[in-house]
Amino acid sequence: MRNLNLLMLLLAIYFVSCKTNSKKPEKLDYALCIHGGAGTILKKNMTAEKEKQIYSKLDEALSIGDSVLRNGGSALDAVELSIHVLEDSPLFNAGKGAVFTNSGKNELDASIMWGKDLNAGAVAGVDDVKNPISAARKVMENSEHVLLSGKGASKFAKQQGLSIVDSSYFYTAKRWEYLQKIRSKEQQMKQSDRYGTVGCVALDKNGNLAAGTSTGGMTNKKFGRIGDSPIIGAGTYANNATCAVSCTCHGEYFIRLSIAKDIAAMMEYKNMSLDEATNAVIEKLNQINGTGGFISLDKYGKPAMKMNTPGMYRGYINSKGEKEKYLYR
Ligand code: ASP
Repeated sequence: MRNLNLLMLLLAIYFVSCKTNSKKPEKLDYALCIHGGAGTILKKNMTAEKEKQIYSKLDEALSIGDSVLRNGGSALDAVELSIHVLEDSPLFNAGKGAVFTNSGKNELDASIMWGKDLNAGAVAGVDDVKNPISAARKVMENSEHVLLSGKGASKFAKQQGLSIVDSSYFYTAKRWEYLQKIRSKEQQMKQSDRYGTVGCVALDKNGNLAAGTSTGGMTNKKFGRIGDSPIIGAGTYANNATCAVSCTCHGEYFIRLSIAKDIAAMMEYKNMSLDEATNAVIEKLNQINGTGGFISLDKYGKPAMKMNTPGMYRGYINSKGEKEKYLYR
């Protein structure tokens, strides 16, 4: 009888340990996600040519990030360089091709966060820094602050040796015409038509997570309006213990819900998986009629790219060579 009890006990231990092991997620060497903004992105409004251009830029940004990470580079470098590709392209609302403010200017916001030590940097309302994500990184690494704004942020970027451009560099006819359209039909425009942003999250071979976001903000913005993109915890967050997140679309809602940090907090305090935490946050966004999406990676390199808008330009790549790109929900 004693032997039978012992056997039963051993069997129970064996089954419990099998169950625990089968739950252990696979840890990837590295992984990276990018986005190029969420909103009313519908197949019926897209030309084959534009679709091709967007896929090809997403591909370029993924490839650059992939080569940094494959060669043992840091998640921060991968985030910064992938975002440069998107900032330099007129296809997205960040850097070249940023949307216009009500007074016909481009005011750019960006932020970056390093999950290893929770250091972070951001700039808001800059109008002459070619790549705002690099200015955000300089703020994080070479200043005692987290967020610099306007002229002061530009002055700092200049001192740091970053590329400064005439504000006409950001002009694109498409965004200018869009401002005129919005000015004439302001009341009828859907809020989710007025946005766009770029972002990247990465996990490197050392297990470090980073997140970055860069944007022109909201078309027709007034009074120095700043969205969620340069706000750590709202539009961007990274913590090696949990996840990295970059958000896009209607920034006011992302600030009100502190979405990026909320995802990380639900994982940390409620022991939720990334999938559960991101579903919960989409639910909260729906409850207050907010619109938008985000890309995120957990510490194992598992992605979650979710939105409640009809589309979000997005892509994922990992150390196993798996690559995905999507435009629509
Ligand atoms: N979230 C950005 C903002 O509100 C815009 C966007 O992501 O589309 O400024």
